[in-house]
Amino acid sequence: MTSLIPSTRKPFSWAVVGAGPAGLAAVAKLLDAGVDPLSILWLDPAFQVGDLGTKWRVISGNTKVALFIKFLYACRSFKYETCPEVFPINHLPADGTCLLKEIADPLQWISDHLRQKVAACQGALRVLTRQGAGWQLTTDTGVFGAKKVILATGAEPRVPEDARTPIVSLDVAMDLTRLKEGCSASDRVAVFGSSHSAVVALYNLAALGIETVNVYRSPLKYASYYEDWILYDNTGLKGYSATWAKEHMEDDSLKTLTRVHQDDPACEKALSTCTKYVYATGFDKRVTFETDASVPLIHNHQTGEIDTHLYGFGIAFPEGKTDKLGNFEHNVGLWKFMVYLERILPFWLAA
Ligand SMILES: Cc1cc2nc3c(=O)[nH]c(=O)nc-3n(C[C@H](O)[C@H](O)[C@H](O)COP(=O)(O)OP(=O)(O)OC[C@H]3O[C@@H](n4cnc5c(N)ncnc54)[C@H](O)[C@@H]3O)c2cc1C
Repeated sequence: MTSLIPSTRKPFSWAVVGAGPAGLAAVAKLLDAGVDPLSILWLDPAFQVGDLGTKWRVISGNTKVALFIKFLYACRSFKYETCPEVFPINHLPADGTCLLKEIADPLQWISDHLRQKVAACQGALRVLTRQGAGWQLTTDTGVFGAKKVILATGAEPRVPEDARTPIVSLDVAMDLTRLKEGCSASDRVAVFGSSHSAVVALYNLAALGIETVNVYRSPLKYASYYEDWILYDNTGLKGYSATWAKEHMEDDSLKTLTRVHQDDPACEKALSTCTKYVYATGFDKRVTFETDASVPLIHNHQTGEIDTHLYGFGIAFPEGKTDKLGNFEHNVGLWKFMVYLERILPFWLAA
């Protein structure tokens, strides 16, 4: 853990916690808005583009390449147009999807140069407490003050308290190479869920010829594209997952896969034959630091506000949106983060 910043310095104007895609966007938009770079403290233990850059690289994304490209050009401070390296994503079909490493690599380039501009500190926030009108951040490397704080600390796959064991973690199940080490042909693996992550785990297990039981709560849901909006944009299957699910999960055509509703009396029996369990039942905000009991980390879905001068952003604190048919969803995805930030940042700056 390294920091060249004296912790005795005067409070920063802003602290951004997390250097995943959301933290990157937050730092860059603050700079674009004219905030003094040296008045921004940026904290992350690794600066490797968060989960996208570390856990999800080999996963097939569900976002069109065109939207990833838009994200790369959305902040002046990203300076993507000056990047000397030509990343493969620049030449991929705009209408297709890609592996997430294709967006993670250019974001790593952006992170590396953005980090040089602001007061970046490699380390983790451990305790966040109120300090006058601002906040005190106790980190691995020192104690800092900041008037305003943006938390962009990411999310973890949800595992129920009464989970069956042994568990194969979702990041392993979604990565074919690691899954090969975690499971063998003699296993029978239960996968809970029917979202994008569950389908990725299922097609990896199918590729290894491993028998699976898919326990689902709701029927498979696909994103539907209309002229100016997408039905089930956040919760519906898209891209390769949608194609695979339609082909292999809608009927009993895949011999290694059994699907069972969680309330079906046959579910318990099917589960008792399984040797390993994958939980793909959603994500919860990552809790990596302590706060005062009086600061519960609950955000306003429209403004991101958690407390006075404390804001949440990214997958941990997503915008809530009701679509044209009245369905409520959390808006999660790089481009959605950017659009949301452009709307709310002026209010955070003015507060
Ligand atoms: C399986 C999966 C597939 C996805 N596919 C897509 C896709 O195709 N397209 C798309 O647009 N979006 C996709 N997303 C959604 C989203 O874009 C990613 O989850 C993205 O990584 C979220 O970015 P983030 O910055 O909010 O969080 P993260 O990427 O998780 O970054 C959080 C960062 O905060 C750091 N941190 C945490 N606690 C602390 C602390 N106490 N102190 C300092 N730093 C801390 C972490 O180390 C990490 O670096 C996907 C998500 C998942 C889970």
